[in-house]
Amino acid sequence: MSTATESLAIHGGKPARSKPLPPNYPGALMMGEEEIEAVARVIRAHSPFRFYGPDLQGSVLTLEKMMAADLGVPYVLGVTSGTAALMVALKAIGIGYGDKVVVPAVTFLATATAVVCSNAVPVYADVDASLNLDPEKLESVLDDEVKAIIAVPIVGVPCDMDAIMAIARKRGIKVIEDVAQSCGVMLRGKFCGTFGDVGTFSFQMNKILTAGEGGAIVTSSPAFYERAERFHDQGQFRVALQEQNGITSDEETSAIAGQNYRMSEITGAVMVEQWKKWDRIVVPMRERYRQIKAGLAAGVPGLAFRGTPDPQGDVGCTLGLLMPSQEIAADFMKATAAENIGTYTLYGGRPVYRNPALWHMRSGERNNFPYNYPFKTPVTCAEGMCPRAEDLLPRSVFVSVSPILTDQDVEEVIYGITKVALALGI
Ligand SMILES: *Cc1c(COP(=O)(O)O)cnc(C)c1O
Repeated sequence: MSTATESLAIHGGKPARSKPLPPNYPGALMMGEEEIEAVARVIRAHSPFRFYGPDLQGSVLTLEKMMAADLGVPYVLGVTSGTAALMVALKAIGIGYGDKVVVPAVTFLATATAVVCSNAVPVYADVDASLNLDPEKLESVLDDEVKAIIAVPIVGVPCDMDAIMAIARKRGIKVIEDVAQSCGVMLRGKFCGTFGDVGTFSFQMNKILTAGEGGAIVTSSPAFYERAERFHDQGQFRVALQEQNGITSDEETSAIAGQNYRMSEITGAVMVEQWKKWDRIVVPMRERYRQIKAGLAAGVPGLAFRGTPDPQGDVGCTLGLLMPSQEIAADFMKATAAENIGTYTLYGGRPVYRNPALWHMRSGERNNFPYNYPFKTPVTCAEGMCPRAEDLLPRSVFVSVSPILTDQDVEEVIYGITKVALALGI
């Protein structure tokens, strides 16, 4: 079939699909009787709090044990959100006033605001063709005042963690992996989130597995686990958790001022069932992703895909296409929408630092604490700061891949995108 000659739906032709693609909420769409029954058990037991109740079900603890076993890490802590996980992780590794933390130019707002709310200042590092942190650009933003790096595998593609860890270890800098968007993403057979000092997960509605809200941290360090545990629970380390984790700690010498980021048993109950479904979600999603990518590569030889350090490790939730220009990207999105194939840019095509609060370096605290710290090398925000991100983001267009796509859906997506791409001269 010569797709180039077909007329586009945007010009009145027949759309590739008769209805829009399913919304991209993999975990939420796979919710079923299992989650209902798990939540009902918690309610029937009158025990929705993780640490005590008349008939405690231990759902959060079960989730933590499942995650630890599957990810191959000794310590996991359930928390209330991915943002809470970042706050807890930053406190765990000792970040505070007077510290700088590297944040990639391409990430969700929360990665950077968690740094500011942890009393540190973000410095932004550019990305490579994978749209993730570029290890080669990392050195140029590091100085003595940078105490941590947050690596973020954006929508399913792993970060080049081996290279990032090598640089961080050489300079004695800690690493957090914010895998909020990419639960289960791997680099060369190892789960992302387990390369750095602490990994952070989100179970918000928009993520791969979900309880609506929720999060977790993972670490191999008993010291980081203890600080995380304490910060998430008003600074205390409950004896039951000490015993479960084989750690002994004394309140007099070790208690710190903390917050309440405790995961509820209701969230835990949903997440245990969601975690069990990871395979059922990711295996078909990856398969669909590969079929669509292969179909497009065959039909549109000029089409450029988002880069990746390991195609095998991708979670497959979102396929990234690199358009020749911002203008073609805009035309592509309009034309594919008319075909009933929704495509979009990430974050309005703008680096994270263009969010007004970050761009103007405004904290909401008196004297603009913590931005007011007299750094030896001042932190600034400026146009052109991360040129690769500024160039790539506005012309990177994404297609959501759902685990519930049918063979027909896949064919229609390939057909519709091919038709549009060829018509635009790609
Ligand atoms: C969603 C997200 C978060 C925040 O997670 P919440 O659970 O919504 O607080 C943090 N980082 C990244 C990269 C995210 O995508």
